[in-house]
Amino acid sequence: MAVSTLSSIPQIEKILQQTFLAPFIERLSRPVVADAVREQVAQYKTQHLQDPDTHLFSLEQLYHNIEGACWLLNQQRLQRVVNGTGVIVHTNLGRSPINAELWQQVAEVNTHYSNLEIDLSTGKRGKRKGLLQQLMQYLVKGENTLVVNNNASSIYLLLHELAKGKEVIVSRGEQIQIGGGFRIPDILALSGAKLVEVGTTNITTTQDYLDAITDETAMVLIVHTSNFKIRGFTESVDVKELANALPDHVVLAVDQGSGTTTEQMPEEPTVASYIDAGADLVCYSGDKILGGPQAGMISGKDALIQQLEKNPMMRAFRPSRIVYSLLEELVVRKLNQREEGKGVAETKSHADLTCLEQRAEELITGFNEHISVVQSEMIVGGGSLPDQSDPSWSVQINPRQPAFQRSPEKLLAVMRQWPLPVIGVIKRDKVQLNMATIEPSEIPYLRSQLAELLQ
Ligand SMILES: *Cc1c(COP(=O)(O)O)cnc(C)c1O
Repeated sequence: MAVSTLSSIPQIEKILQQTFLAPFIERLSRPVVADAVREQVAQYKTQHLQDPDTHLFSLEQLYHNIEGACWLLNQQRLQRVVNGTGVIVHTNLGRSPINAELWQQVAEVNTHYSNLEIDLSTGKRGKRKGLLQQLMQYLVKGENTLVVNNNASSIYLLLHELAKGKEVIVSRGEQIQIGGGFRIPDILALSGAKLVEVGTTNITTTQDYLDAITDETAMVLIVHTSNFKIRGFTESVDVKELANALPDHVVLAVDQGSGTTTEQMPEEPTVASYIDAGADLVCYSGDKILGGPQAGMISGKDALIQQLEKNPMMRAFRPSRIVYSLLEELVVRKLNQREEGKGVAETKSHADLTCLEQRAEELITGFNEHISVVQSEMIVGGGSLPDQSDPSWSVQINPRQPAFQRSPEKLLAVMRQWPLPVIGVIKRDKVQLNMATIEPSEIPYLRSQLAELLQ
């Protein structure tokens, strides 16, 4: 009878003592697992009572359901994945991984008290920035630099402080949307600045900007259109010419985006190049080409940076000591031209092509026709270098299973369920793993997973 079998379900506390749940409790916490157990038990009871004939009671089945629910929860935890996409700075995969040596260097300052806001020479309250201002003077040639939580905050801050209630001139060609709902016109509206559009989507000249200037103009904002490029007949403004022509009451701000400094990235104008050309302020992300933690930075004229730092929003946008400590470590190494200071975009985009091919061969050695090495491309990504792809090598999986042949998406999904999830891409209806973004140390793991898949 239904009721008596159901009453044989152990109490929640007893279920939680099952050994198969121990690793989940370890990873997800006891209350979260207890919730999942309660929910699955309730669901199971309902199903069984509604339709006892098809839902025959089985404790094993119930435990199986509980394990499945815990597995789904586990997938929500932030965890390492293998990036097989060939997109080096992939926003969905955490952008730039932080160099392991940098991470170890900052462990001490972050796991102890630190001089975050105390001046060690006077004992008085000090600034959060540490040595960063001086370091950045050498890296980007700006008199001063401030740091916030991301580049969207940089843009908001500079519009809110310098252009609230006034006009900001932006080229029609730069009305861009950068991923997850970040749109320049929206940020402008939120900041209280008024957008004045000039030029056309493909051509904006210095004269277009000058013609739009009124007494109400606070700023010209140039946005480096890094996540797309209008091809063909285009003309974007010469920053130096514009800087020289603008009247004194108009701030020239550039959203450079990628944070390119000393990294060897051809075709990507550096932060310093805009400052050299006469931009008053340049803002950029910390976790794209710069290769650091998530941060937004504004570099440029000292007086303007100091003004921005006094804006009340700065209190909301200021980053943690973790970010400051990582940035300091990173920039010191960039200035000393150390390998660990390069950032993942530079290192990986300059990888030796023969080396990538060898790694692809190593990955497929001993497997049969169900996997092959193919030519492919890598891109920097993360809203940088839109037109530029570099050659790469990938392995292509030609699965024996008809279900995977029909639906490469299914194969991708299976790979995301692997103990260390693997993110592949579909090219010409086949799943590929791009060697540009796969670590050599990940190859043995991939080999053993693929062996299981392809056997
Ligand atoms: C990436 C990017 C942003 C947004 O930066 P976040 O650090 O993600 O907030 C803004 N502008 C440009 C030009 C970008 O490339």
